[in-house]
Amino acid sequence: MTFEAADNRYARTPIRRSGASGLQLPALSLGLWQNFGEDRTVETQREIVLRAFDLGVFHFDLANNYGPPPGSAESNFGRLLATDLAPYRDELVISTKAGWNMWPGPFGSGGARKYLVSSLDRSLARMGLDTVDVFYSHRPDPGTPLEETARALDFVVRSGRAHYVGISSYSPEATRQMAALMRDLGTPLAIHQPSYSMLNRWIETEGLLDATDDEGMGIIGFSPLGQGLLTSKYLDGIPDNARAAQGGSFDASWVTDELRDRLRSLNEIASARDQSLAQLAIAWALRDSRVTSLVAGASSVTQLEENLASLDRLEFSSDELAAIDELAVD
Ligand code: NDP
Repeated sequence: MTFEAADNRYARTPIRRSGASGLQLPALSLGLWQNFGEDRTVETQREIVLRAFDLGVFHFDLANNYGPPPGSAESNFGRLLATDLAPYRDELVISTKAGWNMWPGPFGSGGARKYLVSSLDRSLARMGLDTVDVFYSHRPDPGTPLEETARALDFVVRSGRAHYVGISSYSPEATRQMAALMRDLGTPLAIHQPSYSMLNRWIETEGLLDATDDEGMGIIGFSPLGQGLLTSKYLDGIPDNARAAQGGSFDASWVTDELRDRLRSLNEIASARDQSLAQLAIAWALRDSRVTSLVAGASSVTQLEENLASLDRLEFSSDELAAIDELAVD
């Protein structure tokens, strides 16, 4: 059936500006790292993506290597663009990245110009696009001069391959250096994508939030649910269909008794707010307005809808924040 987006799609999800740039994002974005390769049916992927867009999630976060196999998330998303989302292309914020291993040899990962530009060309081809909205250097590469990576990012914007550029997982110091280089080139960095959750607070403790704020950049935190740990699914065991049971990026040994105790206490705080643990985790990670958006994953429409309902209750009392601080430690 032809997709027609809901008329009220912008009524639900708050929109925040990314630093001092023109880029605006929904407070919750959808990540296609997992669940959008060849491991899920095309129907499930279509349901999740289209439901997200109907609910105001207009930002879809990809990377060259998302799958499995690498590249397949972009190919699958490209198919959805062609069949359903093409009429809405100008409303969408589509991001992709290059930095992690994509093909063999010295130019299949890292931050060299040759890799970044040719990888973006392949990403564009897989998605059937001329331009992405955001292109990221996916990780710092100590082997390549920051100046070269910066010039490559400047080039992809000037050549029309991307509207905005960002960096992911750079330290505060490298972020300040890259921001200065990009400003001098005339293409300011719009956004930084670091990991951030109740179980991973480095952006607060190591000063990244201050660095990005000083540089006029926004933050989009990835894995705000700790790959699913910060949901109710692991409170009493490891369900067979959960990511932890699949032996990929999530090591089941992370689910210790000590962690489960803390998750149960966080779950009690969530219940007292009429929220699920996932909803508490998302609302909490959005409490600082310098965080523009969070990019969460979902393996079903039910999860997506639960996560988006976090946005109905974003305010916290100081007592709640203090109680969470006792439990939300790396
Ligand atoms: P999350 O922490 O949001 O974990 C998502 C997973 O948690 C889902 O796939 C699902 O796993 C489970 N889940 C989600 N919602 C619920 C719910 N309500 N109840 C129960 N379980 C739930 O993020 P991801 O680790 O998936 O990362 C999100 C995105 O961040 C990626 O898609 C990518 O776009 C980006 N990212 C960027 C990185 C970078 O280096 N820049 C690195 C990693 C991610 P399941 O049901 O399968 O158990």
